[in-house]
Amino acid sequence: MTLEELKEEAKKHGYNLIKQKEKVYLQPCVCGCNRRAKWYSAYSITLKCNNCGRSVTGDTELDAKKQWNRMVEEWAKQENTTQ
Ligand SMILES: [Zn+2]
Repeated sequence: MTLEELKEEAKKHGYNLIKQKEKVYLQPCVCGCNRRAKWYSAYSITLKCNNCGRSVTGDTELDAKKQWNRMVEEWAKQENTTQ
């Protein structure tokens, strides 16, 4: 096995490990709705709340999910400051 092949193997295993570890559960939207529409385009994935229409876009599904959870926190903060 060459060094390049070894790197490839490590990458594969690393990727699998990351994939298993990084299971992201989506938070419900700040509006209380727990259903989202999902759009796939060639370069991005968009998650959009079925109720209020809040949406996030990520490069991958995992990225979109992380963005969603991050934004739920942001939206919650905004709600708190406007009330
Ligand atoms: Zn919503």
